[in-house]
Amino acid sequence: MRDRAVPPDSLEPMSVRAQQYAAQVLRREEISPHLVRLVLGGDGLAGFTSTGIPDEWVGLVVPGQFQSRYYTVRSWAGGELTLDVVVHAVGLVTEWASRPDVVGETVTVTEPKGSYAAPDGAGWLLLVGDLTAMPAMARIAESTTLPARIWAEVPEDLPGYLPEGPEVTWLRPPAEGASALAKAVEGIDWPAGDGYFWMAGESAQMRAIRKHLMREVRLDSHAYDVMGYWRGGAVRQPRAVDPGPIYRAGKAAGLSDEQIWQRYDEAGDQQQEQQ
Ligand SMILES: Cc1cc2nc3c(=O)[nH]c(=O)nc-3n(C[C@H](O)[C@H](O)[C@H](O)COP(=O)(O)OP(=O)(O)OC[C@H]3O[C@@H](n4cnc5c(N)ncnc54)[C@H](O)[C@@H]3O)c2cc1C
Repeated sequence: MRDRAVPPDSLEPMSVRAQQYAAQVLRREEISPHLVRLVLGGDGLAGFTSTGIPDEWVGLVVPGQFQSRYYTVRSWAGGELTLDVVVHAVGLVTEWASRPDVVGETVTVTEPKGSYAAPDGAGWLLLVGDLTAMPAMARIAESTTLPARIWAEVPEDLPGYLPEGPEVTWLRPPAEGASALAKAVEGIDWPAGDGYFWMAGESAQMRAIRKHLMREVRLDSHAYDVMGYWRGGAVRQPRAVDPGPIYRAGKAAGLSDEQIWQRYDEAGDQQQEQQ
């Protein structure tokens, strides 16, 4: 059970405490036209330690850039750190990761942090997300013993990406407008008893989902994590807000994951207003 306490009055600035690691790109593989696998390694990762939390993420700074973007640790094994990166229309990491010749380049990654926390006694697990959530959903599904169901909105098939076992509903993102995920969540026939709902995708949509879970489904705030992984609609490239310090500060203050991710969204809003 997680304790609640007084919220912190300020958000820590990024990278004050985050340990950083220099890593070489060992391999690059195109899993699909929109998903690139990067395998990182080298001596600089010697001190890297996984939290073991299946949705753990790292900050990634690519060569020539100072700003981080956040990526799920798809795996950490044998000194190799695997990140699966969505390549979309335009973006710092997108443009870099789209290049076939990134192998051999050095990037910086931060220490991992994770958010997934199925409550004790959960009897089921529902995972919902877009392509950016696929690495986390795959790793969660691999590591859980709970009966799981997955809704995945992806632009093209990803055969074999998710482990065997969970029932998967594949959805295609619409050419325009809101994703189909909100509708899928509204249509969920909720399993009986206590369980855990995990979801990640575009921030504005995630907010609407939170409201739905809170007001309509009336889930306990510890029974779900809904995370804004990226912010759509920005004309200028937003400087991503580091979830690590917000997460650490929220945990230290005893906030639920739900409250922490709301706080994360608010920090992103504040930053966008200032830009
Ligand atoms: C905890 C956490 C874990 C994450 N894990 C992953 C992961 O494993 N794999 C992954 O690919 N992403 C993941 N993300 C999302 C990723 O950090 C963002 O998508 C990030 O903005 C991508 O950076 P960029 O440099 O490519 O684009 P940016 O420079 O950040 O953005 C450029 C433009 O692209 C738009 N944009 C950003 N992301 C997307 C997108 N996915 N689809 C369409 N348009 C987009 C923005 O609105 C902006 O207009 C995660 C985010 C968080 C917070």
